[in-house]
Amino acid sequence: MTLTIEAIGYDGATALAEMASLFFDRPRQRTDGRIQIPYGENVRIESLISDGASSDLVVATTKFKEDAHDKTRWVARDSIALDIPRDEWRREAKRQLYVILSRETGISFPWGALTGVRPTQIACQEIERATWNNQGLQSEWYGKVFDRMTHYWKLSEQKTKLVIETALAEQRILASLAYPKTNGAVDDGCDNLIIQGTGVVYPYVVYVGLPFCPSRCAYCSFIARDAGRYAELLEPYVDAVIREARMTFSRGFKGEVAAVYFGGGTPTSLPAPLFERYLSGVLKSIPLMSDAELTMEAGRPDTIDEEKLSIIRDKKFDRLCINPQTMRDETLRMIGRAHTVEETLRAFELARAMGFRDINMDLIAGLPGEGATELLESIVRIAKLAPESITLHTLAVKRGSALIEDGVPHVLFYPDEALIDAVEQSHDCLRTHGYAPYYLYRQRNCRSGLENTGFAREGHASIYNVAMMSDAVPVIGFGSGSTSKAIRGRQASRVHNPKDLSVYISCVEEQVEKKRALFSTVK
Ligand code: SF4
Repeated sequence: MTLTIEAIGYDGATALAEMASLFFDRPRQRTDGRIQIPYGENVRIESLISDGASSDLVVATTKFKEDAHDKTRWVARDSIALDIPRDEWRREAKRQLYVILSRETGISFPWGALTGVRPTQIACQEIERATWNNQGLQSEWYGKVFDRMTHYWKLSEQKTKLVIETALAEQRILASLAYPKTNGAVDDGCDNLIIQGTGVVYPYVVYVGLPFCPSRCAYCSFIARDAGRYAELLEPYVDAVIREARMTFSRGFKGEVAAVYFGGGTPTSLPAPLFERYLSGVLKSIPLMSDAELTMEAGRPDTIDEEKLSIIRDKKFDRLCINPQTMRDETLRMIGRAHTVEETLRAFELARAMGFRDINMDLIAGLPGEGATELLESIVRIAKLAPESITLHTLAVKRGSALIEDGVPHVLFYPDEALIDAVEQSHDCLRTHGYAPYYLYRQRNCRSGLENTGFAREGHASIYNVAMMSDAVPVIGFGSGSTSKAIRGRQASRVHNPKDLSVYISCVEEQVEKKRALFSTVK
């Protein structure tokens, strides 16, 4: 028996299949566009978009139908219909499907009908809508937005509070980055600056990726290679990135760079002399603003030593990321991190002793063998170290990782109340220790449909993290697998560097030309 989902009168099967995949394992999309899912009875969902009362409105309707007793016709079991602006039909069709499937299955996700990577963008749109032409009545907008997020988008109350608070923090950071400062931003009367999205120009941010690590984490689905096994590739790779940076910023490049993030992989897995050449070679080409933020992802504590920290400090990096992921040795062994809790503590103390005053530490919720108690123990231990920022990720269960080979039971993606509660408790604990959320994003296949949230103490939010997630700030990516992004109005266009190392190394010139073409259309 089958549940069939059909988009009638519009081309929306892919969007509906994406929403259906929250509830069901790999919905099958047939060549005629219908989506079919094995089910306990024969039922169908019809999603229709039809003309509305005026040319800028449409009616979105979703009907859940079951077989009549005599099996001669379909009868409605549930339905939703709404007039909406024409340009919102796709997301409304997905939202209605979420509501119908949630009512049918009894499953509700913490982020409700939001499936995108950046839920704060939806929150910003709702804030803009609530404050539009109404700037004197700010005491009212929060309630309106809260209502929309919980009742219309079906977010849990906790996620609603989190997304509004984080959206406002992101907007404040973006406003501080815009040129001229605050040009195009509107004072909403409650000390929050809401960027209106047009008439605002931002400097660039730069990502420099090194896809090598000292070992492979069991949950990794990234292209990272073992730095020891592929040692002969390190030097050609570093040379290629240096060349890519030099060529990109030569020949009349206009603009400045407000933040640079050296990530990976693990950049600090390079041997010290090559690491020094890598940083010098790339940084000397970048037209940095005088107060540019420089971040080094020294993710694996076992790659950090005095020599590399000296190099990082000499290059004037102000942010350093040291990522314990958990403070349990047993879990670290299980997930293939070749370091111990002791090494994390040592790396942190060494960095502090060498003068690093802006350290971020990452933790992951939902690791194998860990429940609320273990997660909270890690949070408390890290919070006691008092790094300036802590990012709490949720384990993404991805095919291609060693932890999850084939056949991931779909139930692993369903909401797990214990995990959701553990993450909420962790957020509360971080707030108690003086951290506030400032950016968040979601990934596909995160356990329980949860999110990754960056928390920081006052004045320590990462500009890069907010900028690159924003779809407002242009991003230049260097290295294999990196992405460059140009912004036109509210639209982002992207080009991607090849993921394959040899292909990347051999076609740097081509990548530079693609970047030039991308940015020449908007600058
Ligand atoms: S440190 Fe990151 S990139 Fe490297 S293996 Fe682990 S998850 Fe993958």
